[in-house]
Amino acid sequence: MAFDNSTRQMYDVDLSCGKCGTHISQLPFQPSGDRPVYCNECNRAYRQTRPSGGGRSFGAPRQMYQVDLTCAQCGGKITELPFQPTGDKPVYCRECLRARRDR
Ligand SMILES: [Zn+2]
Ligand SMILES: [Zn+2]
Repeated sequence: MAFDNSTRQMYDVDLSCGKCGTHISQLPFQPSGDRPVYCNECNRAYRQTRPSGGGRSFGAPRQMYQVDLTCAQCGGKITELPFQPTGDKPVYCRECLRARRDR
């Protein structure tokens, strides 16, 4: 199956960017209506700010501390942390940290 960007189907829409308010007349996907859509510029900026699976392009690798702890929430094993544990605060595994942050 050939994937040709120039013939990608575009949907005609009449929306404004959820970030900068720019008018959007075409989208490469059918808008569902229950989430904001963004113009090309904002989409590109958004994509650049989040690391896309493994291919991290910014700065030096973050230092990780080798630890031997258990998650204060789920009890899962924690072998490294992005910070030095002080011992007087509970630490959480990656999944629990993300769940807490998403709230
Ligand atoms: Zn925008
Ligand atoms: Zn956990």
